[in-house]
Amino acid sequence: MKLVEIDRKSPVLSRTRFGCLQEVFTLNITRGCEFACVYCYARGYPDAPPLGEVHLFRNLPEKLTRELDSPRRRNPVLWVAFNTASDSFQMHPRIQDVTYRAMEALLHRGIGLSFLTKGYVPDRFLRLFSQRPELVKARIGLVSLEDSYRDLFEPKAASAKQRLDTLERLRATGVEVEVRVDPIIPFYTDRPEEIRQLLETLALKGVRSITLSYLHLRPAVLEQLRRELPPKEFRLLESCFAAQPWTEVGTSTRSKLVPRPLRQRGYRRFQEIAQEFGLRVRICACKNPDMEAHRCSIGLESRLAPPTRRWKQLSLFPC
Ligand code: SF4
Repeated sequence: MKLVEIDRKSPVLSRTRFGCLQEVFTLNITRGCEFACVYCYARGYPDAPPLGEVHLFRNLPEKLTRELDSPRRRNPVLWVAFNTASDSFQMHPRIQDVTYRAMEALLHRGIGLSFLTKGYVPDRFLRLFSQRPELVKARIGLVSLEDSYRDLFEPKAASAKQRLDTLERLRATGVEVEVRVDPIIPFYTDRPEEIRQLLETLALKGVRSITLSYLHLRPAVLEQLRRELPPKEFRLLESCFAAQPWTEVGTSTRSKLVPRPLRQRGYRRFQEIAQEFGLRVRICACKNPDMEAHRCSIGLESRLAPPTRRWKQLSLFPC
């Protein structure tokens, strides 16, 4: 992976107006992500670097500190959500250094943070989080325990074993951890035996709640899948979406959802198996605008005032 260090010119904290992160400040350490998930829609953004290249905002901690401490700041920053278009726990040490300094700056000011990761969280972060565990909300992205799944769909992300290890270590520090089973790949990761294996393992690790969502296509993602998946797997996936129209989902004007009956059956399968293991299941409202679903849990409901605007669907995470 080629890391290019750049200075960020625009403010590092941006305010999201939609979806689960309504009124929450968001922050990305890099543009691009070394994990290179084949379904990542952030890879299709106009300013995304080419595959194999990541742009690190090297001045981010300093800019963040200035923004937080600015006497001109009108809206207090209570909580910051990381990783709306990247992953803070990519393996490169420089990325982790910048992540560490940014998270440290927030926690030392009593500001909470949440992140969704498919990476491995190193020990020094756990030591940092253990100082204020009540201010950290972690979500681990994990769809399958099979190496064959990771090799195809998330080729550079941490292994399932490393993610489970991260989950356990985070819980041991007192941090609240949830698992996001997203994106479920139809006919690939929604078979009963695979669901059972995943949910049983999660329950044994002490997980109590999971959030589900199926893969959701955008034109750029479809092309990535065509380029990067073996033809057999691509054709099977493509066939799931073939009869689906491109529709508006949140801010994306061209998105395709897995057909609703297929999603409903899949979610029911998850719910039935989850019940056996005492797991609470939520269906992500951002990516299921056409059915009864839940606001993605980032644990902010109790900390932030309820949104005043009408709930609007939006895909906020690139996975
Ligand atoms: S889906 Fe997330 S982890 Fe995967 S490449 Fe995109 S930003 Fe990185």
